[in-house]
Amino acid sequence: MAKCLMCPRGCAVDRNSGERGFCGASNEYIIGSADLHFWEEPCISGRNGSGAIFFSGCNLRCVFCQNRDISRAVLGKKYTESELIAKMLELQSRGAHNINLVTATPYAFFIARALEKAKKEGLSIPIVYNCGGYESLDTLRALDGLIDVYLPDFKYFDENLARSYSAAPDYARIAGEAICEMHRQVGKLVLDEKGIAVRGLIVRHLVLPACREDSKAVLKYISEILPAAEVTLSLMRQYTPDFADADAPKNLKRRLTSFEYDDVLDYALSLGFDGFSQGRESAKKEFTPRFDK
Ligand code: SF4
Repeated sequence: MAKCLMCPRGCAVDRNSGERGFCGASNEYIIGSADLHFWEEPCISGRNGSGAIFFSGCNLRCVFCQNRDISRAVLGKKYTESELIAKMLELQSRGAHNINLVTATPYAFFIARALEKAKKEGLSIPIVYNCGGYESLDTLRALDGLIDVYLPDFKYFDENLARSYSAAPDYARIAGEAICEMHRQVGKLVLDEKGIAVRGLIVRHLVLPACREDSKAVLKYISEILPAAEVTLSLMRQYTPDFADADAPKNLKRRLTSFEYDDVLDYALSLGFDGFSQGRESAKKEFTPRFDK
């Protein structure tokens, strides 16, 4: 990647010659963990688990990230393309309901090529693209036809929040355009007879402490750019302050209250969204994945 423009950061660094952009990724795959994962939405994890591959490096690096070992420190194991393909096929043979590409954005062009090869070698389970929502349209178009289920976050509406928490003041506009492109490619969520996602769009939103008005603005914006009936919403309550930066804003140092979450959930229902909600027990450090170092 001689001039990386893979995401909206547009760093234009030469990753082939060792330069690193905002995400910290090189031209080699660094993978924090690749295993069956049971803590996604029920239609993604199912009974057998999701074949989750956690890529290291991130183009958002949120100040509260629960995966900070791989989003900030870019820790993990190096994989060649053929090792990645072999891992996908192994997860399929272990019964994974899907291949779940977590934070694949900094590797998206490489992954498109790997997926084409893997499908020729027998990979047939759905491919899930699980990302932060800060995606470039050109990159998403390169994935058209290769991804079955898009699972993006939609994190913020307010530009000051997006700047302060993820250094991305244009986040809402970019994420809005991205989910429209994702919807154009895969449409509304489709489940198989066992309730497993085979195609479609699920938008995640994590409610943050003291940010419920922004959460409502996010939901309202989504309902303005796509019909609520076309979007499966995963409204997340799992925020835990355990991972917040030492100098993160004070509101991120506490847990979300039930009042805050329920208020946003009621609003989502009033807009006509359907989908997934989380119970209070989800806000535990134990539910975060462990990574190879
Ligand atoms: S993928 Fe990484 S290096 Fe490339 S533009 Fe995005 S943040 Fe910059």
